Amino acid sequence: MPKILLITFGPSEAAVASGFVAKLGGDVTVLALAATGPSAYNVLDAGFSEIPPSDTISTGVADIARDYDYVAAVSSLAAKDLLARLAGHLDWPLVNDVTAISGTKEFQHPVAAGAAVETVRVAGDGVILTFRPAAFPGSPAGGVGTTEAISLAVSSGSRRTEAAAKSGTRPDLAQAKVIVSGGRPLQTADKFEQIIGGLADALGGAVGATRAAVDSGIASNELQVGQTGKIVAPDLYIAAGISGSTQHLAGIKDSKVIVAINKDPGAPIFEVADFGLVADLFEAVPELTAQIRQRAVAQ
Ligand SMILES: Cc1cc2nc3c(=O)[nH]c(=O)nc-3n(C[C@H](O)[C@H](O)[C@H](O)COP(=O)(O)OP(=O)(O)OC[C@H]3O[C@@H](n4cnc5c(N)ncnc54)[C@H](O)[C@@H]3O)c2cc1C
Repeated sequence: MPKILLITFGPSEAAVASGFVAKLGGDVTVLALAATGPSAYNVLDAGFSEIPPSDTISTGVADIARDYDYVAAVSSLAAKDLLARLAGHLDWPLVNDVTAISGTKEFQHPVAAGAAVETVRVAGDGVILTFRPAAFPGSPAGGVGTTEAISLAVSSGSRRTEAAAKSGTRPDLAQAKVIVSGGRPLQTADKFEQIIGGLADALGGAVGATRAAVDSGIASNELQVGQTGKIVAPDLYIAAGISGSTQHLAGIKDSKVIVAINKDPGAPIFEVADFGLVADLFEAVPELTAQIRQRAVAQ
C-alpha cells in the first residue's frame, strides 16, 4: 500500500484533507508543523508554536519525506513554498492545486487562471501534491492514531522578524463557510471595514478582497482572494463591488453559491453568480446587514 505523508500547517487541515487522502488511497501519516490535537491518522508532531520560514526546515522535512510515496498538503501559499523546495531536494515531480485524481499518478488541476484544466501523468516513484480540499468532499476519518513528538531540524536562513495577526476573531478565509468580499469601489479602509466587515460579522463570516482593493490600500494583503491570493470554497460567497476578473474568479469558483452586488448589469461577475443584485453597494449592503441583524434579534 502506498505511503502518504500529509503535511499540515494548522490544526484543522488533517480533517479537511480526509476526502483527498481517501481518494488517493494509502497509509497516511501526518507531519504536523503547527501544534495539533488528536487525529484519525498517526501524527509526527513537530509542534512549532510558529512555523519557521520554509528555507530553514525544508531539508529536515525532505529527510522525512523521502520514505514516502506521496507527499501532500492542502493548497496554500505556505504549502506551495515548502513543497516546491521539497520537490527540489528530492527531485520529485510537483503538481499544485489538484482538483481530481483521474488515474494512477494522473492528476487534474486548473491552469491559466482557472480558464483550463490540465491533466498530468507524473513519472517516478515519489510525487508531491498540493490539493484543493473543496474538490474532495468527505467525512473526517474515524478512530484515533498515535502521536509521536519529533524534533525537526531548523537550519540557518531567513528569520521572521515580526508577525502581526490582523484578522481578529473572524474565521479563516480558507476554511470559512461564508465570505463577504469587497472591491475597489469601497474607496477607504474605514468604509471597507464598516460595510464589508459589517455584513461579514452579521453572517458570522470571513472578509475577502480583490487585488485592486488590496493594491489601493483599502484592504490588507492577507484578505486577497484569487489567482495570486487565497483560493476559497465557502458555501456562500458575496461579492460586492467586484467586476469579476478571471484572476479573481480563479479563487472563488469552488464556492457553492455566489451572490454578486454590482451597479453595472454588464459586469462579468454576473455571468458566474447564482444570484445577482444590480444596486449601489453603499445602499444595498448596509440594508442587507440591518435586515440580517433584525432577523437575528427577532429569532
Ligand atoms: C498577474 C495578475 C494576477 C492577479 N491576481 C488577482 C487576484 O488574485 N485577485 C484579484 O482579485 N485580482 C487579481 N488581479 C487583478 C484583476 O485583474 C482585477 O484588476 C481585479 O480583480 C479588479 O478588482 P475589482 O473588481 O475590485 O475592481 P474593478 O475592476 O475596478 O471593478 C469594480 C466593480 O465595482 C463596480 N462598482 C463600482 N461602484 C459600485 C458601487 N457603488 N456599487 C456596486 N458596484 C460598484 C463596478 O461596476 C465594477 O464592476 C490580478 C491581475 C494580474 C495581472
